[in-house]
Amino acid sequence: MHLETTFIHGGYEPDPTTGATALPIFQTSAYAYRTAEELEAVFAGKAAGYIYSRIANPTVTAFERRMTALENGLGAVACSSGMAAISSLALALAGSGEEIVSGNSVFGGTYSLFQNTLSRAGIRVRFVESTDVAAYRKAINERTRLVFVETLGNPKLDVPDLAAIAKIAREQDVVLAVDNTATTPLLLQPGQLGASVVIHSASKFINGHGNTIGGVIIDCGSFDWGNKRYAHLGEYHRRVGNFALLTALRNQICRDLGCCLAPFNAFLLALGTESLAVRMEQHCKNALKVAEFLSRGGKVEAVRYPGLATHPDYSVAKRQFGERYGGLLTLRLGSRERCFQFINKLKLAQNLANLGDVRTLVIHPASTFCRELNEEGRRAVGVSEDLVRLSIGLEHGDDIIADLEQSLKQL
Ligand SMILES: *Cc1c(COP(=O)(O)O)cnc(C)c1O
Repeated sequence: MHLETTFIHGGYEPDPTTGATALPIFQTSAYAYRTAEELEAVFAGKAAGYIYSRIANPTVTAFERRMTALENGLGAVACSSGMAAISSLALALAGSGEEIVSGNSVFGGTYSLFQNTLSRAGIRVRFVESTDVAAYRKAINERTRLVFVETLGNPKLDVPDLAAIAKIAREQDVVLAVDNTATTPLLLQPGQLGASVVIHSASKFINGHGNTIGGVIIDCGSFDWGNKRYAHLGEYHRRVGNFALLTALRNQICRDLGCCLAPFNAFLLALGTESLAVRMEQHCKNALKVAEFLSRGGKVEAVRYPGLATHPDYSVAKRQFGERYGGLLTLRLGSRERCFQFINKLKLAQNLANLGDVRTLVIHPASTFCRELNEEGRRAVGVSEDLVRLSIGLEHGDDIIADLEQSLKQL
């Protein structure tokens, strides 16, 4: 099947008992069994079945199956947010005294998790320049348990060469996890380029309507979990083979942390995937149009969009994303004051901390989601005081441009 079809049909067939075509919301905490023996068998893993919705829930399962199909993976575990997915993956792979190598141009929350929270737990994160392939090789050592990178840095919008980074990770038998939030499976499936694990903040393009938070971890199925670097997963590997990571996540890490996705939120996310293919195409078309308009000069000092030939990673983006470049772009207006003025005069674009919504969104990163970062962190994620980020929505492109134009004129 083509991806467009999988977005709609993947992971769920009409409910056999009722014929319901929309995914049913199983709003239940637990699942009853007729006999003590049956429940014992499920707890022992000898029979399949649901136990408690912190571990698994049928609505959440349907969303996980759809994401698995979309990333061509082995399986998936959904979480309450993108950050929950990233935290869980990090804790499933690395422990005290071990290390993570991460591109430096990552989402602010991820940067803080790696820099502050994990270091308190004894996990050291070595940041490397996201697009510097050789730096990953240098940073990996015998303590490394995870290499982490985003498909499209936010807000830096740099594009690492994933196939090259994957090759390095493979040579050293280290897991490469790729955060595919900003590009979605429509633009690229990191597993095809050699990533072992894919992460999504489903709160963004997958949901698409800014009405819930969620995250998901997908095992691409290509990593051998019998690998001695991951000795702590050895027992899982002996029991369930290559489902070791997924089982450790579901039956230990996510279960213990309690970061489960709620069934209603899973319903909204699965609904979001059904229109994702057409939405993403339009986000990309609109964003390119806006980027071209803004780069014609005027009051904007610099426009950054991976679909502009002037972007330093344009050729990597072109090859990696199938000639579509996502919905995010940034512009520089010379000063923080001018950014605030520009944002305040916009009528259509909404000023809020989110991206990937059907609506066009705008934000000043330095005073909001990047405010906790120190100088080094800001440089790493490409944030300056005069930078504005736009997440281009699905309104008519001319209306988006007219809104930006009327605000720019008043600067
Ligand atoms: C938003 C985002 C996250 C965090 O996801 P939440 O669902 O907000 O917790 C992680 N990575 C990227 C690239 C994001 O944009």
